[in-house]
Amino acid sequence: MKISNRLGKLRQRMSEKETEAILISQPENRHYLSGFNGSSGFLLITPGSAILATDFRYVEQAEMQSPDYNIFKIAGDIEGWFPDLIDGLSIRRLGFESDHLSFDMHRRLSNILDDSRLQTRLVPITGLAEPIRAVKEPEEIELITQAISISDTALDKVAATIQADMGMIEEDVAWEIERTLRNNGSQTLPFDVIVASGANAALPHARPSQRAIQSGEPIVIDIGARVQGYSSDLSRTICLGTADDTFKRVYKVVMEAQMAAITGITEGMTGAQADGFAREIIERAGYGDSFGHGLGHGLGLSPHEKPHLSPNSGDALGNGMVFTIEPGVYLTGWGGVRIEDTVIMENGKIRVLSQAQKMEVGV
Ligand code: ZN
Repeated sequence: MKISNRLGKLRQRMSEKETEAILISQPENRHYLSGFNGSSGFLLITPGSAILATDFRYVEQAEMQSPDYNIFKIAGDIEGWFPDLIDGLSIRRLGFESDHLSFDMHRRLSNILDDSRLQTRLVPITGLAEPIRAVKEPEEIELITQAISISDTALDKVAATIQADMGMIEEDVAWEIERTLRNNGSQTLPFDVIVASGANAALPHARPSQRAIQSGEPIVIDIGARVQGYSSDLSRTICLGTADDTFKRVYKVVMEAQMAAITGITEGMTGAQADGFAREIIERAGYGDSFGHGLGHGLGLSPHEKPHLSPNSGDALGNGMVFTIEPGVYLTGWGGVRIEDTVIMENGKIRVLSQAQKMEVGV
């Protein structure tokens, strides 16, 4: 992790956007740009300086993790310390992350800057650091790959032990997965485990319930692991016992849609074009209205980040980007099928990273 490289890229983008200073408050951006993974603090970055402002709980950690930064110790209310933080930097336009900074914090900062003779104006900015984060460095790919390996192993292991019609409930399966993920090295979980069976599987983000696992029903499992902040994201749909015709048909369509995206997506396409490969197949099969979410999303320090693969996404897909491909079909009252793999764009093409087993469904 070369923080100086990341700062260089950020400053380049700042100059393109004519921003002479940026206040970073969004946690993953803060972590990415500084190496500091504490849960509280601000970065203030200008062409010539990089300051990490955090309180006494984190000062020692910040000094260790962020040698490229000057550490500024926060004490008391922001009204007290913020003028000191920007003093002497002669910032006229101070960018802030308008998709993260709270309304209250913005109001307080505005008041501070109005009161002072600093002549600093707040400028809302979005999407400054996110496109940099979307292209992964080799060390980041290594950590994501480790997280993927943990979720692959956990899903295969637990899926093989699920028993239908024996009183096992969704919550049992979810807990077994969570335990296995943690035992295998996942540091906390990036999001709650999803185990959705039968009609519950029609809800893309169902919570595990006390519903008993039954044979002949779809079971959607969506899990992630986390290694040094980096996430994986994996979904499989299984069916125990005899799958009905609907399951076979829907499963086959979703598999084909995923394969079309994996083989079709190439460098330079937009997220919308990528989404189109899978959506076309699902629409042609008559399930267009049942694929209500985008095809996928980037992952890294956040389990959902740029690039977005969806009907309206203009994000350009480039080498080094890691993202999911997760078509799904959801039928109210019956259930759903989602198959999600994580891939990397390499040499202009897609390489699939996740390796968890998929069902073989004959039609
Ligand atoms: Zn996902």
